[in-house]
Amino acid sequence: MQITAPIKYLPGVGPKRSDILEKELDIHTVYDLIRYFPYKYIDRSKFYMIRELESATAYVQIRGMILGFRPMGEGKGKRLVATFTDGKDTIELIFFKGLNYILDSYQLNTEYIVFGKPSLFNGKFSFVHPEIEKPSADRITGFMPLYHTTEKMKNHFLNSKAVQKLVYMAFKNIDRNSIKETLPAYILSKYGFPDIATSLLQVHFPQNVAEMDKGRARLKFEELFYIQLAILKQANQFRSKAMGHPFPTVGHYFNTFYKECLPFDLTDAQKRVLREIRNDVRGPGQMNRLLQGDVGSGKTIVALLSMLLAIDNDYQACIVAPTEILATQHYESMSKMIAPLGLEVGLLTGSTRTKERARIADGLTSGSLKILVGTHAVFEDNVQFNRLGLVIIDEQHRFGVAQRAKLWGKNIRPPHVLVMTATPIPRTLAMTLYGDLDVSVIDQLPPGRKEIQTEHIFDEKRPALNNFLRKQMTLGRQVYVVYPLIKESEKTDMRDLENGFEAMKNIFSDFTVCMVHGKMKPTEKEAQMREFIEGRANMLVSTTVIEVGVNVPNATVMVIENAERFGLSQLHQLRGRVGRGGDQSYCLLITKYNIGVDTRKRIDIMTQTSNGFEIAEADLRLRGPGDMEGTLQSGLPFNLRIADLSRDGQMLGLARDEASALLDKDPMLSTTENRLLLENLQQMTKNVVNWSFIS
Ligand code: ADP
Ligand code: MG
Repeated sequence: MQITAPIKYLPGVGPKRSDILEKELDIHTVYDLIRYFPYKYIDRSKFYMIRELESATAYVQIRGMILGFRPMGEGKGKRLVATFTDGKDTIELIFFKGLNYILDSYQLNTEYIVFGKPSLFNGKFSFVHPEIEKPSADRITGFMPLYHTTEKMKNHFLNSKAVQKLVYMAFKNIDRNSIKETLPAYILSKYGFPDIATSLLQVHFPQNVAEMDKGRARLKFEELFYIQLAILKQANQFRSKAMGHPFPTVGHYFNTFYKECLPFDLTDAQKRVLREIRNDVRGPGQMNRLLQGDVGSGKTIVALLSMLLAIDNDYQACIVAPTEILATQHYESMSKMIAPLGLEVGLLTGSTRTKERARIADGLTSGSLKILVGTHAVFEDNVQFNRLGLVIIDEQHRFGVAQRAKLWGKNIRPPHVLVMTATPIPRTLAMTLYGDLDVSVIDQLPPGRKEIQTEHIFDEKRPALNNFLRKQMTLGRQVYVVYPLIKESEKTDMRDLENGFEAMKNIFSDFTVCMVHGKMKPTEKEAQMREFIEGRANMLVSTTVIEVGVNVPNATVMVIENAERFGLSQLHQLRGRVGRGGDQSYCLLITKYNIGVDTRKRIDIMTQTSNGFEIAEADLRLRGPGDMEGTLQSGLPFNLRIADLSRDGQMLGLARDEASALLDKDPMLSTTENRLLLENLQQMTKNVVNWSFIS
């Protein structure tokens, strides 16, 4: 059978399963299937005893017998519980689906092997939907690969084991020699990598750890190498074509503002970053810079000064924020700061009225309006500039790649781009996401800031918490109370928020409590927010709409309800809303008493460090890069199938060096010897927009 044959022709697949494989895993051909890698392996050479289980235990196998079945619950909670014993202890096996099938298939007092990941519930371990099989002579021992499957696949009996069987069938039916090599021979020999067919076999059917590692190393390298090749090749092409908009002059606006309007002295870090930006924009090249600075480090003023530089050189500048609240805040603070310069700032958001919109459009096309602040609305096609020289994207992690790409359409020559983020991106991830993007870091907070005290508080401690909040508000400080609002459970979340709001209003009836959430009308949201920003409300109960950017220096307490439901970087962002003035600030993470291991880890990290980089690294370790907030929305430009950015940093470095050396010699990959690389690369980047410089 041909390796390129449609997956439905593989024995054991057929039209129904091929449909599912295509839809769920994007597997269309036999080749796609053999490049669908296991995400982990179970060591099936050992049987665990129930008493050996601990919460960190990954997939394990236990040998024993079922003692009895018990149906439990009703409706959605209906389940079947089997008691399983290894001869010494017992553990529950829990099934929510296919109850009759389970009852029919398994007998009491018969020996079975059960596999699964133990989960801890109410202090006891159990297995939810474990796999069960009879001990038999031809069962796989040694290393068993595990393949990710989806709910839908499982419903059609395409579990990990079924996928493994299909992979086995694939190798049985294809000619190994028809698997084309994907790496140059010199790289294989330089690193002692096995050829492609061998590595694929080693990864799907490893005989031992050493083999598995070898195959995996090669495939990881290959994956990272191609990504780097794509990024760097695009970078080269771009560099050679891109002509920037030189800003040689530091003129009237910049100088006057710097000397007369700056409300504080810049920190050394802010000054350094400004110099870096200055260096990028003064020459013929185009700036692509990522500015990382922890929450509260003062990125806005750097943005403003950069925009003044653009204006000094007769260009327009625009800054884009992810939310209306944030855009409005930038608009107001910037308008106020540069008022003495006689410069007008435009504000363009989803709720800008038609008339105002037209006025702004006129100003932009005629060039009389120099500075535009806005939201996504700025990306719309009908927004045209006269001479756009600089685009700043605030809180970049909130924007999708495609949206950012749109900005290119605004100019024949791309403007300088400065993207700012408070969600620090670990080095390995930045390298993959942004290729050659230059990075500046504001690694210093403005003087006089006190470290925020972060504490974990259990639900039961509310009375003490309320006393504390009362004290702070009596001192004149303001308090945020944030509730999670996550799509699927919106209704109950909304109720939590509203109940919380009512409760706070009752408890603190002598103070003013306001509320905002995403479902409100913009004007109403705006009005409530304003109450808080301008200091008339003492407490703001809200969802995460306030997560990014909001700046109320007088707010000193951030209470996060159901903190277990937030990711690390979100918690860090929320915490960054306080500690913005000179007063001691507090972040209080509230959870119920019973929390899982991962929640515990996240909370511990939060209470131990306030360093955004450490938190980002920890986040990457805990969740893996695919799930990282920030990349979740923008999406990794390539799906990583085998490499893991949180662990394979070193491999990434090697891959990058090799890719870069190769492109130095053959920038267009035009030699015959590199033809294969080019073909593979084109295949891989077929559906990807020009993202690497858009960031
Ligand atoms: P972020 O980097 O999170 O966007 P902002 O730019 O909103 O931070 O700045 C946070 C606060 O710190 C603002 O109130 C701002 O005016 C203030 N600030 C910024 N730079 C300095 C500085 N060098 N000295 C004192 N205060 C500063
Ligand atoms: Mg900001």
